[in-house]
Amino acid sequence: MLTGDQYLESLRDGRRLFVNGHAVPDVTEEPLLRGGALAAARGYDQHYQPGDDAFGPYFFIPGSVEELRATQERQLHWDFPTISTSNGLLMVLTAASRMRPDFPQYAERALAYFEESKRRDIRIVQTITDAKGNRSLPPAQQDDPDLYVRIVDRGSDGIVIRGAKLHISSAAITHELMVMPTKRMKPGEEDYSVAAAVPVNAPGVRVINASFAPRPDLDPDFFPYSSRHVMTEGFVVFDDVFVPNERVFLAGELEHSATFAHSLGLWERLGSVGSYVRLADTLVGLAQLVAEANGLQRIGHIKDKIAEMITYATLIRAGFEAAMHHATFTPEGWASPDEMFTNAAKYHAAAQFSLMVRHLHDIAGGAVLTAPSMADLRNPETGPDLQKYMRTMKGVDADYRMRLFHTIRDFTADAFGGWKHVTVIQAGGGLYAQKVVVSNHYDMDAAKALALETAGITPDGKVLTSLAGAER
Ligand SMILES: Cc1cc2nc3c(=O)[nH]c(=O)nc-3n(C[C@H](O)[C@H](O)[C@H](O)COP(=O)(O)OP(=O)(O)OC[C@H]3O[C@@H](n4cnc5c(N)ncnc54)[C@H](O)[C@@H]3O)c2cc1C
Repeated sequence: MLTGDQYLESLRDGRRLFVNGHAVPDVTEEPLLRGGALAAARGYDQHYQPGDDAFGPYFFIPGSVEELRATQERQLHWDFPTISTSNGLLMVLTAASRMRPDFPQYAERALAYFEESKRRDIRIVQTITDAKGNRSLPPAQQDDPDLYVRIVDRGSDGIVIRGAKLHISSAAITHELMVMPTKRMKPGEEDYSVAAAVPVNAPGVRVINASFAPRPDLDPDFFPYSSRHVMTEGFVVFDDVFVPNERVFLAGELEHSATFAHSLGLWERLGSVGSYVRLADTLVGLAQLVAEANGLQRIGHIKDKIAEMITYATLIRAGFEAAMHHATFTPEGWASPDEMFTNAAKYHAAAQFSLMVRHLHDIAGGAVLTAPSMADLRNPETGPDLQKYMRTMKGVDADYRMRLFHTIRDFTADAFGGWKHVTVIQAGGGLYAQKVVVSNHYDMDAAKALALETAGITPDGKVLTSLAGAER
């Protein structure tokens, strides 16, 4: 296994990174990106065990509902690249299992890749979302054929890929990109049906980064949450990148072009739902704390809003639990979360998130945005005014109440909050993507049968004319 220092050293591998208009020679020294690398390094240290056969708990394949639940619970305490590696490899194994009957060689490669990743203790990110160009046109009909990642050359030893994958979380601070098709490909789109593991430092890979990291000169007291949590998002370009055969998991087989995306959707969304349980509970906690700090906790409409937030959090938790409880098992005995509950819970969490943030802002009041900084509280000239007017009662002084407002602003209404808003909707696929899955898995026949029974129509089309049991 790698220590945190060895991991940081491993990122100095010649990778080509950019941010804010300049090249990044060393990601561990770049102020806008290094926070993510340092968090991942802490994760390495947290898990490190000496010995050649030691490996991290993120390389674990759950074989029962209990193991699946334990894996997901553990993830809540991991850094993002580690979560992504765990879910990404489970996704690869799920896909391998589905492909095994048709393409056993790909299934074997995927398993070998799992073992190699475990041995090297690397971090992997899921690299799926293409640039996509004109959304109304399929890949092969775009005016630029590179708008979806594709194979541009095939040789006896491997393939060459070209294109770009966008929004790839933590690409700059991981070792490998698990590239896969964004959707099902159709006849004529064989070159777009490609899945492969690509090192971030492979020749031809460039990562142009964005980050919500606050400017380094800003007061961490003003950004109590985001100053401790940084996520880098990578715009990854594949400029004719060679991939050797042993790292290719799909190269033209249309029938499995959607297998990876489906498997990824499942694991990625389950992980999201788990984190949204925590997110929703945090929103409830902030709403209750600020209501209490403002003396509003017994007011009817405030209690009503908090009750709605509690219901929201509880239904996400219920979906998360149900997704694991109703897990299915591959022929190899590997657990997979239930598609229906995973996607319904993800949809619910994402679709209602803005409303829950609205309730929080409504309860908290305008100081969410206008509370002066903690530096003003420390300033002897302005501090006494803030101490006098920002306190509300015995036990709620200015320091505490202002910290609450700054946390709510940072968490929901400033740079990180804005990112979170879009992330909850889009990461793991937009709202429509989950609706497609729930519609496909819903038992519509049973629902129709119930509706017919309600209408008094028998399954063979006869209409019941009198009340059942009326003759009694
Ligand atoms: C913070 C963040 C992190 C992310 N991390 C990752 C990551 O690590 N790896 C990764 O691969 N991706 C990642 N994503 C990408 C995410 O999966 C996509 O943003 C999402 O799938 C939507 O794709 P898009 O952004 O290209 O939007 P679009 O595809 O442009 O979608 C916008 C809207 O248009 C609709 N739409 C698009 N095409 C059609 C069509 N043909 N017909 C009908 N409606 C259509 C969509 O349903 C949606 O409502 C991340 C996104 C965010 C915001």
